[in-house]
Amino acid sequence: MKKKKVIFLFLVLGLIASFTLIYDAFFPTESFSNLRLGDKLVVWVITLILLILYINTDSNPQLVPSVLSIEKDTGRERDKSDISFKDVAGLEEIKEELQETIDFINNSTKYRKMGAKIPKGILFYGPPGTGKTLLAKAVAGETNSTFLYASGAEFVEKYVGVGAKRVRTLFERAKKEAPSIIFIDEIDAIGAKRNLESNKEKDQTLNQLLVEMDGFNTNETVIVIGATNRIDLLDEALLRPGRFDRHIYVGNPNVKAREQILEVHTRNKPLDKSIDIKAIAKKTIGLSGAQLANIANEAAIIAVRKNKNQISIKEFDAAIERVLAGLELKNPTVLKKEKETVAVHEAGHALVSKILGTDIVQKISIVPRGQALGYVLKFPDEERYLLTKSELNNKITCLLAGRAAEELVFKEITTGAKDDLNKATDIAREMVCSYGMSDLGTMALDEVFIKYNSDIIRREIKKITDARYDEAKKIIEENKYLLLHIANTLLEKETIDSDELDKIFKIYEKPLPCANEIN
Ligand code: ATP
Repeated sequence: MKKKKVIFLFLVLGLIASFTLIYDAFFPTESFSNLRLGDKLVVWVITLILLILYINTDSNPQLVPSVLSIEKDTGRERDKSDISFKDVAGLEEIKEELQETIDFINNSTKYRKMGAKIPKGILFYGPPGTGKTLLAKAVAGETNSTFLYASGAEFVEKYVGVGAKRVRTLFERAKKEAPSIIFIDEIDAIGAKRNLESNKEKDQTLNQLLVEMDGFNTNETVIVIGATNRIDLLDEALLRPGRFDRHIYVGNPNVKAREQILEVHTRNKPLDKSIDIKAIAKKTIGLSGAQLANIANEAAIIAVRKNKNQISIKEFDAAIERVLAGLELKNPTVLKKEKETVAVHEAGHALVSKILGTDIVQKISIVPRGQALGYVLKFPDEERYLLTKSELNNKITCLLAGRAAEELVFKEITTGAKDDLNKATDIAREMVCSYGMSDLGTMALDEVFIKYNSDIIRREIKKITDARYDEAKKIIEENKYLLLHIANTLLEKETIDSDELDKIFKIYEKPLPCANEIN
């Protein structure tokens, strides 16, 4: 669109020049007397080229998803995936599970002779960035199948019938180019549970998808892979046998997988001796494959920026901070009073996290990054799959500790706790609605109950967050000198690493009778 505008601008100038020269040919003026015919020809030819370029540049907004657009036949290779299982690190059990499907595509006659049916649909579900798209591409790559990517949102249309038509076109193309893999990302956009509130267009699109999945027979080697972060939202009909009947959870990588992912994403990067991939994998608990890939890439970019030939651990640490906390602001204009508030707020988080032992605090900083004026970089000390009620409570206490510290030190609260409040409320809501960890009893609450009893639920959430806030204030009050020491050090140095924090804690192992008030 932008390109077309630029061409249009030059075309207008070219047309003005061309017409002026034509006019001059009939009514000669002094101004153009020294222009030769050759010069005039150049102007006309350039204008003509611009006109042709302008006509050929497509400015229509894409009305159909990229995969469905009618393309010139430039060869089928463009839809082949060059990703193989070698590019997918970790996820061994999933790759093993998919091996059978791959074998089916590669040796379909063998299975057909036995009367075995090819699996039609596979559903990947799990948190974002864990490699669901990558796995689908790898299946296509391993089987040399056509890879047709579509996002669920591309099928959501205002006009009844448009989404359904797109689904039909997609399947037609897949059958024509079989063997093929149709990958529908964010399938919940079209596959969400139908209810009284859903609209006709959405229902029609989902129905068409169901019809298509039932419709193609097992002689056509077409596999549909769906991906979603919310399997709980999907319509039952989509999940039943014969449709997406293989559900594969793709979760965040464990330490071994993180190491392998980092290895895949650093294999073409010059690393210096200070880099210990194992150690980086150990301290990045909870990060997704996409975040790790991003960290490896950021580290390389930082090294280039510093004119270095190799990437060192310093660049990796900076990349972790860049990815987790956002871009560092170079010339922040934060008021002194606000800096003090941020220092106390972050000190509150770090203090309570360390005392409750929820996470390992790696760094505290009051250097603004992204939208945050300060942050505490912390990771759990080990891989966890189950959390106890006390641990969830402690997490909420740590989240609310920033606000609690502000209130205790300044007798005033600020807007800085917005994100913490959201996160704390989310955990408390899960405790009430999903984990049966509230006074409502040992039960999970369904959508209908939640909808009609929002007040009761809100009261329960409040009970939890209020109690945790009181707990955070109590811990901070009992350790106020320690809090002020951390805050003052932050104001002086802007960042504190884990060793320095340990040293400060050591001083207060036996509480001192006095300490400096905030500067
Ligand atoms: P979303 O749910 O947000 O669509 P996703 O699960 O589909 O995310 P991908 O798009 O597959 O995630 O992953 C994003 C990027 O993260 C990949 O292109 C790849 O670079 C990296 N990545 C994620 N997991 C892995 C992995 N297991 N091995 C190697 N790279 C990975």
